Amino acid sequence: MTPDIRGAVQAGSVVAVAGAIVLGAVAPGLATQFDDPTPEPAAEVIDETIEAVQPFDPADMAAAARLAKPIELQRAKRAAARAQRASGPMFTPSRDYSRSARYGQPGGWARGYHTGLDFAAATGTPVFAALAGKVIEVGYAGAYGNSIVILHDNGRKTRYAHLSSTDVKQGQKVLRGEHIGEVGSTGNSTGPHLHFEVFTGTGEESFRNPADFL
Ligand SMILES: [Zn+2]
Repeated sequence: MTPDIRGAVQAGSVVAVAGAIVLGAVAPGLATQFDDPTPEPAAEVIDETIEAVQPFDPADMAAAARLAKPIELQRAKRAAARAQRASGPMFTPSRDYSRSARYGQPGGWARGYHTGLDFAAATGTPVFAALAGKVIEVGYAGAYGNSIVILHDNGRKTRYAHLSSTDVKQGQKVLRGEHIGEVGSTGNSTGPHLHFEVFTGTGEESFRNPADFL
């Protein structure tokens, strides 16, 4: 190789001259390393890094634990919320009630049959979300009176009708069993009760028997 470089230098090649200078600088260093088995610089750097990490400072560990705790709590909270969104038994949307009309019962309702379940209860009795979800409708809705519709993660919707008051806003996310309003007798109603529906779309065919989910 050397004769070639020499030949190139003689030919006046600038690149070959630069190469020859580099070779000249490196060659003595390599020779020293092979001759002298003293510790390699790279090995020293690695040893220092390990020494810097190994000793555990109890104060640092405590600080790390304090930081980790809220993260763990948040994770647990999110997992619980996810579990509540999953399809499963619905939370009975009222308390201290008597069933006053069943699903599918024929009668003078707008659709000729009863599209939900009726829970007769005193005005002001709390009403709860049957499953976690998002409020997609809230306000006065004709025969339903003051009404709330919640869309759940499983695609089903629940309606809570004839309420005396509503305690949620459009777009609000609610958890299973969350207090969303109070029983009343607004709209087409002859006495205080909660009219509770389960449905998947807008048509009559989409109504389901709420009793199947409670
Ligand atoms: Zn009803």
